[in-house]
Amino acid sequence: MNLKTLSNERLLSETKLIVSQERELLISVLRHLQEIERRKLFLELGFPSLWAYCTLELKYSEASAYRRIQAMRALRDLPVLQAKLESGSLSLTNIAKAQSVFRKFSKKQNNIISPFYSGVELSENDKLTESDKFGENETSRHGDHNLACAKLKVFAALENKSQKEADIVLASHFGEEILHKESIRQVSTHEVVVKLTLSSGLLQKIERVKNLFSHQNSTLTTAQAIELMTNFVLDKKDLSLTSEKRQRAYTESLRISSKYGLLLPQRRLSHDNKVARAPSEMSQTQKLMANNAKSAVPAAVKRAVWRKAEGSCQYVSSSTGRRCGGQHKLEIEHIQPRAFGGTNDESNLKLFCRAHNVQAARDATLMG
Ligand SMILES: [Zn+2]
Repeated sequence: MNLKTLSNERLLSETKLIVSQERELLISVLRHLQEIERRKLFLELGFPSLWAYCTLELKYSEASAYRRIQAMRALRDLPVLQAKLESGSLSLTNIAKAQSVFRKFSKKQNNIISPFYSGVELSENDKLTESDKFGENETSRHGDHNLACAKLKVFAALENKSQKEADIVLASHFGEEILHKESIRQVSTHEVVVKLTLSSGLLQKIERVKNLFSHQNSTLTTAQAIELMTNFVLDKKDLSLTSEKRQRAYTESLRISSKYGLLLPQRRLSHDNKVARAPSEMSQTQKLMANNAKSAVPAAVKRAVWRKAEGSCQYVSSSTGRRCGGQHKLEIEHIQPRAFGGTNDESNLKLFCRAHNVQAARDATLMG
């Protein structure tokens, strides 16, 4: 169709029609994503999360994927929102924004429904039927009902609002700081500017770290303190480092420390000189710990497994051959469980992300 030949009237009316079809399509996408999440199909395909599936397989941008997943969860919890998305009174962005604020807020409040719920009064139209609030199979508790009502009230306040106006509404309900997002901006080949919100408690801890080194360097910056702490954690926790690499990492942290005018304590690189105590000298707790240590995977084996897996999830999809490669919440697990005679040998161990480990355990239970 040549749009240039259309009358103004038809051009405008057809645009409206297509936009409403676009919204219907969007809702259909959200419903499909919801079902994919319910079946956890992304795990079988070798993705560690629905988000990874949306960005890598469906080719959504990171922000688009994030908005769709957040909105999908909001609609799953509150199906009444669908009509508002359909009519355009609530935008995808504002639904997603509110959903992510609810999540942050409930984490912060440890799931206590508080200030933002208090004083909420609902009109008859706002009241929810049981099936509105949750999936049909889920029973609701009083707290869930209150939470759902409170969320609906917030969504009602977001209707027909621009993104900026939505920020103001959310800030008035939950406080300014909840809207602050982390951002990373590359400013040169070697430097980035990071914007992040810290709790005052965390800032105090960082100040204490600076104070610990203050007798050596009284002008340590926050970035330098973070670098010191990061090197310290990587040195302890990054199992992919070989002993040579660990030595090199340690040398590097020494170099950085001396650059900042700091002295690090001498590091013990070998544990061989530890004197083993006879069992008779051990307390009950020490004996227990020693027994647990015997059944635990030795650190050297853990490091070997980690290195072989290159520090990422080894799950490979049987249908697509895709390897997960996720690096979030990695766990070393036995292929043949210890309870069934599996050993702590490297060949009986695998490195999976948490999502794939849970999936594997579920499959094993179903088969067993
Ligand atoms: Zn995985």
